[in-house]
Amino acid sequence: MVYSIKKSGKMLLKNCRIIKNNKIIEEDILINENGIIEKIGKSIQYNGETIDLKNKIVIGGVIDAHVHFRYGEEEKEDFLSGSLAGINGGVCFAIDMPNNKPPITTKELFHKKYKEGKEKSKINIEFNFGVTKSNYLETVEEAKAYKIFMVKSVGDLFISDYSKLKDILSQNKLFCIHAEHKDIINENLKRDSLNSWIDHCKIRDKKSEVEAIREVIKNLKIIDKIGKYKPHIHFCHISTKEGLYLIKKAREELKNIKITAEVTPHHLYLNMNMAEELKGLGKFNPPLRTKEDNIALIKGIVNKDVDIIATDHAPHTFEEKSKDPKNCPSGIPGIETFVPLVFNLVNKKLISLFDAVKMISENPGKIFNIDNEIKEGNFANLTIVDLKKEGKINAELFKSKAKFTPFEGWKVKGLPIYTVVNGTLFDAYGKII
Ligand SMILES: [Zn+2]
Repeated sequence: MVYSIKKSGKMLLKNCRIIKNNKIIEEDILINENGIIEKIGKSIQYNGETIDLKNKIVIGGVIDAHVHFRYGEEEKEDFLSGSLAGINGGVCFAIDMPNNKPPITTKELFHKKYKEGKEKSKINIEFNFGVTKSNYLETVEEAKAYKIFMVKSVGDLFISDYSKLKDILSQNKLFCIHAEHKDIINENLKRDSLNSWIDHCKIRDKKSEVEAIREVIKNLKIIDKIGKYKPHIHFCHISTKEGLYLIKKAREELKNIKITAEVTPHHLYLNMNMAEELKGLGKFNPPLRTKEDNIALIKGIVNKDVDIIATDHAPHTFEEKSKDPKNCPSGIPGIETFVPLVFNLVNKKLISLFDAVKMISENPGKIFNIDNEIKEGNFANLTIVDLKKEGKINAELFKSKAKFTPFEGWKVKGLPIYTVVNGTLFDAYGKII
């Protein structure tokens, strides 16, 4: 097998520095044979399997709330490879997106995918349901959220008529929105063609994100005023300073509607200046922005305008990613660089340790109703990080089928060393390098 179960069964994790609710607690964690946290406390006595985690931090299992494990496109990724990548990256939970072929826009397709995903995934996996102009009243009990694409994705999984947004969002549901404005992109396409990597950024320019957000908020204001419905709107992968500002303002203004914002690690670290050098590895949607946006998004984390960091893990084959700007598909893998890149920000003193834990563990748990808390009686889902360990990102060691990354060779500090999924402890990337 390609992954190594380090230990399962009853075990004691000694000397954990548990980071939880803005506190650091130094305690032991005893996990029982069913994978449940039996006891948390000082100097727990146990003679069986014991792992000393002195100087390591232990956080509630990391949630990657935005992944594409490519159900139905096994050459790119599948539930097994994607979830093993999760384990390697210190991720215990993932929420998978519905833009599959065919898109997951019926209950039947959802349940088929759900069953297969739950069977094959080695981490805890959840799913979003895809919203179309005709299925938007459908309620799918098992869905974590309802995903809206404002720009073409796959098949009919695209709200092309924005006048529908008011009706769609007038429901008490959690909606995840990919906000890029179709008309602005189409206008830009008339002006520019995709000949260079930077052209991709120009075609899907900042305005396309900002105007899409504005369009959503315009509708939310109407819904808020009527007051009948209380949707929760989660904006996926916000990449612009201006977009984040619009969201901040709307959060202050709206009374009945909850709004949350997500950013990706690649929009925190990478920008347009790197486009020609990164080539296909810098092609994703929304695209590379400016250095100023990198800084604004990081500031947004510190100021709590950003709620979560998620990766938008979107693997393709290396062959596809090696194509020219026009033919290279958008999207990069991210689940295995996620935890290192976030804790690297902590080591660079750009965000606090507590910010980091909120962004990748506590806040996604609250938003998506996933109980990843380190608490007696809960399944042991833990991400164990050596904050002082440094290492280079090396995509050869990825478990994802996509063994490439724009962060290749980057030196990062703060690596996941163990991932505990429902009580089973696995080695993570920081342990194997
Ligand atoms: Zn995505």
